[in-house]
Amino acid sequence: MDYRKITVAGSGVLGSQIAYQTAFKGFEVTVYDINDEALEKAKNRMAKLKANYKTDLGATDAEVNGAFDRLTFNSDLAQAVADADLVIEAIPEVVDIKIAFYKELGELAPDKTVFATNSSTLLPSQFAEATGRPEKFLALHFANTIWINNTAEIMKHSGTDEKVFNDLIDFAKAIGMVALPLHKEQPGYILNSLLVPFLDAAELLLVKEVADIQTIDKTWQIATGAPLGPFAILDVVGINTAHNIIQAKAAATGNPDFEKLANLLKTEYIDQGKLGRSTGEGFYKY
Ligand code: NAD
Repeated sequence: MDYRKITVAGSGVLGSQIAYQTAFKGFEVTVYDINDEALEKAKNRMAKLKANYKTDLGATDAEVNGAFDRLTFNSDLAQAVADADLVIEAIPEVVDIKIAFYKELGELAPDKTVFATNSSTLLPSQFAEATGRPEKFLALHFANTIWINNTAEIMKHSGTDEKVFNDLIDFAKAIGMVALPLHKEQPGYILNSLLVPFLDAAELLLVKEVADIQTIDKTWQIATGAPLGPFAILDVVGINTAHNIIQAKAAATGNPDFEKLANLLKTEYIDQGKLGRSTGEGFYKY
């Protein structure tokens, strides 16, 4: 594995964390997003991460500032990927947005560049053709709060080169992750094969007015000893991502409960700026 220059595309909840963690482990990282306003937000998000790294990992001032010094920010995709060994994509979980992005990226990036998607619910084979380099494309999926919940699910599609797969496993370890290889495509990987049905079930209990948020969370926490209930987890995931997932389910199944749920997330939370922990309020206040 000889990756040195990494570009993270999409600097939202997860992209900011992936970029900062990668820089923290000594790599040169370019952060790409659609405009400078989005990049400014990412800078603020990453500046806040410094405190987490000090508290949770015992990192020194020199280490957390050193990570920042290895980050550059660019809203021009051609410049952002001009010399990248690896592009990690963390843009919205919307098929059309990702396809358009991969078509553009495939044309702009050098031949050597490997692309990895952090998509939670979509499969790499859905985008492999759009990349123009299916053999150098696969999934590299992180969990939120990556510096403590340091899993990296590495999943190939049927056309991924074996060396690229093995290199990504080495890269994941080099940035401090526990590498979890998936040898077959699996919607939702391992984590979300477990987590998404669980969160859906909680949201459906809410939208069907069976029980309120606090009661649902408390039930799960006391009964299983889990530190967080499903709605507290959704606040960490971010309501935008939750909404995208539910909206896709509503369209695919025609289930009116999913439709009602998508509307609830939009009007009661997203439209009011309650996007979860990242904005200080979601289902709970922080
Ligand atoms: P987010 O909404 O917080 O961030 C998305 C970012 O992408 C924003 O900064 C936005 O400006 C940017 N963006 C939009 N269109 C773009 C484009 N065409 N090119 C480049 N950037 C663009 O989303 P998120 O929660 O960070 O999720 C991003 C990806 O990571 C999704 O695929 C999601 O499934 C995955 N993921 C999310 C979590 C989570 O807990 N939030 C966990 C694992 C994986």
